Amino acid sequence: MKALLKSRFAELAPPELRYVLSGLEDRGFKAYAVGGGVRNLLLGREVKEWDVATDATPPVVQEIFPHTVPTGIEQGTVTVVTEGGKVEVTTFRRDSEYADARHPNEVFFSRDVEEDLARRDFTVNAIAYRPAGEDVRAAEGAFRDLNARTIRTVGDPVERFREDGLRPVRAIRFACQLDFEIDERTFVSITSVLDRVSLVSLERVRGELMKILQCGKPSRGIDLMHESGLLAMFLPELDGARGVAQNEFHAYDVYWHSLCTCDAVPGDKPLVRLAGLLHDIGKPEMKEEHDGRVTFYNHQHVGAAMTARIMDRLRFSSAQREYVVRLVDNHMFDYHSDWTDGALRRFVRRVGVDAVADVFDLRIADYIGNGLRQGFPHYLEEMRARIDRILEEDSALSEADLAVDGNDVMRELGLGPGKEVGAALRELLELVLDNPELNTRETLLAKLREMRPPGGPTA
Ligand code: ATP
Ligand code: MG
Repeated sequence: MKALLKSRFAELAPPELRYVLSGLEDRGFKAYAVGGGVRNLLLGREVKEWDVATDATPPVVQEIFPHTVPTGIEQGTVTVVTEGGKVEVTTFRRDSEYADARHPNEVFFSRDVEEDLARRDFTVNAIAYRPAGEDVRAAEGAFRDLNARTIRTVGDPVERFREDGLRPVRAIRFACQLDFEIDERTFVSITSVLDRVSLVSLERVRGELMKILQCGKPSRGIDLMHESGLLAMFLPELDGARGVAQNEFHAYDVYWHSLCTCDAVPGDKPLVRLAGLLHDIGKPEMKEEHDGRVTFYNHQHVGAAMTARIMDRLRFSSAQREYVVRLVDNHMFDYHSDWTDGALRRFVRRVGVDAVADVFDLRIADYIGNGLRQGFPHYLEEMRARIDRILEEDSALSEADLAVDGNDVMRELGLGPGKEVGAALRELLELVLDNPELNTRETLLAKLREMRPPGGPTA
C-alpha cells in the first residue's frame, strides 16, 4: 500500500497540491496530503478536492500563500487558491468534548499528525502522506479496511458517533459512494446514537443526502438509512411507504418502487433523483381498494404538497423546492398518439419549458422502476419528438409570448390594471395554444375588439 501510495502520488498529484505541500515544507513545516484525496488515490478513483494537514497555524498559512480564503478558520481551515485549483489546508487538530453533538467545544491545535488522524471519522479517511520524507501515517487498520472495502470508525463507534451526530450519515454516504460495506459494529452502533443524530443541523443532513443521490445506486444508501433508523428520522414519509402494496402492474411496494425509480434517473441530476424518490410519496395516503382494485387517485398532487413540506424541513432553497414539486406534480401524464398539438403545448406550459426534459427522465425512470416492464417506453419517444418540434417552432406557450401585451388589452377593452387584463390575455393564449398562426399583433388586436363589451370604448 505504501509503495502504491508513493507511486500513485508521483504520477497523479496535481500541481496545486505540490505547490501547497512544498510551500509549507520550504518554511520548515510538515505538510501531509490527507483525507478523501489520499483514499481515492489508493482506490483509483477520481480526486475532486485535496486536503492538506500541517503543523503550521492558520495565520502562518495565510502569510505563506498570497491567495487564501479563511473557510473555517476557527476549525483551523484555510483554503489556498491557485490558478490550477484550490487546496484546503487544516492545522493538525485534537478535538475536545462535543457537548451538542455538532461542534467540538474547543479546538486544540496539535504538533502531531497522529493526533490529527485520531480525530478523523473513518479509518479509510485517516491516511496521511508526506512526500518530503516519504512518510506514510494511518489510523490503525486503515489499509486493511481499505483493502477489504470497509467503513469503520477510528476508535469506538458509539463514542465517535456521539461526538458528532453527522458521522452515522456520513458512514452510509461513504458506503454508498465507494461501494464499501459498513463494519458490523460500526453499523449497529448507529441505532444507539439516534438521539445524537437528531441534534445535527438539517442542512448538514441534506448535504449528505444530496451526495447519496449522486451515487451509482442511491437505493443502497437510502435502504441503509432505513435499516439503521435514520430514514424514519429524516424521511418518515418514505419509511412509511414500506409494505404499501400496489396493483398488478407493479412488482414492488411503494417504498421499493420509489428507490428503484430514483436509481433509474441519470446520476448527474440529483434533484430529479430526489423527485424520483418522492414522486409516489402521496400514495400511502391516497390508496383505496374497491372490489379488489387498488387506486391512488390524485396521489401526485398530494405527493407534491408533501414534497414541499419535506424539502422545507430539509432546508432546500425555495427554487429547488419549487422545481422538484413541479416534477412530482406532473409525473402522471397519459400520452396517446391522438393528443393534439394544442394538448402538447398545454402540457409544456403546465410543466414549464425548463423542466420538460427532466419530466421525461422521471417518467422513464418511473416506468423502469416498476420492475415488470422490459425495454423502453416508445410512446414517450413519440411524445418527446413532437414536443421538440413544438419547441423548435417557438410558438407561444405563455402570456409573455403573445404578440400583444397588457397595455394593448387595457387600451382595446378600456380597462384599468386588474384581474380582467390577465383573464383576457389567458383567453388569447388559449386560442393561440390551439392555433399558433393566430399569434400576430393584427389578429390578436382584432380578437380583442371582438371581446369588447357592447357599448365599450371605440378604437
Ligand atoms: P469527499 O470530499 O470525497 O466527499 P472526504 O473524505 O474528502 O470525501 P470531506 O467531508 O471532504 O470528506 O472531509 C475531509 C476529511 O476530513 C475526511 O476524509 C475526514 O478525514 C475528515 N472529516 C470530515 N468530516 C469529519 C467529521 N464530521 N468527523 C471527523 N472527521 C471528519
Ligand atoms: Mg473532501
